[in-house]
Amino acid sequence: MTAAPTTVSDGVVVAIHYTLKNDAGETLDSSSGGDPLEYLHGAGNIVPGLENALAGKKLGEQLKVTVAPADAYGERDPRGVQKVPRNSFPPGVDLQPGMAFLADGPDGEPVQVWISALEADRVVIDLNHPLAGVTLHFEVQISALRPATAEEIEHGHPHGPDGHGGHEHHGHEH
Ligand code: ZN
Repeated sequence: MTAAPTTVSDGVVVAIHYTLKNDAGETLDSSSGGDPLEYLHGAGNIVPGLENALAGKKLGEQLKVTVAPADAYGERDPRGVQKVPRNSFPPGVDLQPGMAFLADGPDGEPVQVWISALEADRVVIDLNHPLAGVTLHFEVQISALRPATAEEIEHGHPHGPDGHGGHEHHGHEH
């Protein structure tokens, strides 16, 4: 057995409590009151700027990290906004602004797009992540560290305390 890791490094499953704010100080997301977020360090599960800042940090350590868009969700590309007919969506789907879904990219590969607005017979979609162009201000505390299992390393993400918790949404086979 590998000894429990004491610092954040590649191949370690890191549990963090975090609060994410924008430049205006508005809270965009937080793990407060819930379970910490688990991620596999070195696997790109979280934005690069935050992952880089956590490298080498110790269990229990608290840090404040400001991440520029280039190291988070990228700059906004105005060409990413498009209007498509509402009937290009499956009937019966209750479309709402903020919804994310997968569409076919230029080479047929799945790309994630977000609904940014609804018009009478058209849907405004945005290929930009909702946080593109936003500078992210994180307050993070490292609440747990453990070695990743071989399966987690292979998959590139943690599997949770019961071995497969929260896994279904990844949409891949075991
Ligand atoms: Zn998996």
